[in-house]
Amino acid sequence: MECYNKGINILEIFRTNRSLNGLICAHCQSEEVIRYGTYNKKQRYKCKTCKRTFTDFTNSPLNMCHFLNKWPAFIKCTIMGLSLRKSARLIGVSYITLFYWRHKFLIALKNVKNTEFIGLVEVADTFLAYSLKGQKGIDNRAPRKCGRKYKYLLGEKVCVLIATDQSENTACRATLNLGFNKRCVDAAIGNLVSKENTLAFSQKPAYSSFCRDKKITFYNSSIKEYKINLGENYLNNFLNWMLRFKGIASKYTNNYLAWFKFVFRINFDDTSIGIRELIKIMSSEYISEINSSICKQRLDVA
Ligand SMILES: [Zn+2]
Repeated sequence: MECYNKGINILEIFRTNRSLNGLICAHCQSEEVIRYGTYNKKQRYKCKTCKRTFTDFTNSPLNMCHFLNKWPAFIKCTIMGLSLRKSARLIGVSYITLFYWRHKFLIALKNVKNTEFIGLVEVADTFLAYSLKGQKGIDNRAPRKCGRKYKYLLGEKVCVLIATDQSENTACRATLNLGFNKRCVDAAIGNLVSKENTLAFSQKPAYSSFCRDKKITFYNSSIKEYKINLGENYLNNFLNWMLRFKGIASKYTNNYLAWFKFVFRINFDDTSIGIRELIKIMSSEYISEINSSICKQRLDVA
């Protein structure tokens, strides 16, 4: 895996990308910043507004990381969709360390803002059973019921809703639901679509009711003979890709959606071009998560 480090200088990518439009404070985004010596052989800066110091990695998934040179190999494993245990063996870092690296990296990807949709937007959804995988001390777990799959949404289900326009600009979001109604649609895509868009979806009253409320024009595929190809293909690809993980804790669903979105976008390119692209995206985001807050993520209830 070491050979993937050749020619990839993470610090350089971070420094270039974070100062593209002028250096800003990693804490308060102020532009009043001065160079302030070095810390652990890294350039340190000081913000004149909030008086705090920072480096090129502050508030990024790489903050306080001891094995910077292992990150390109880690990103390669991420693009390949390898499990943590397999990645740990290949990279030579402990499984636990990789767990935190992975989730901090995914949180940075999840924070990337969606670009506005243009024109016709296809919407599709799927439901996953709620899973507490990995959680300790689960009391009163309800017995699993066979049959009556997800049709009537008995109990909590995770709704994964995807919206994509004709240029395949995609937004995907998971919420925790007890029933599927316009509130669920609003929670997932309410801030991404406007009157400028037309929504296309398979027959489900929740969508038409959401569109009427927002005064958005829509095609119901059953009426207009419009096929929801882009949205449904994307969801199928996502579900197939997820099979490798053999079930995940539901609270991390949005992290996995962000993961899939970006590796899909770079076409699963695990060469140095794809690895650089993901490092670049990661360097543009400021995250505040530390190891102890990773496990406290929750799905929003719609
Ligand atoms: Zn500041």
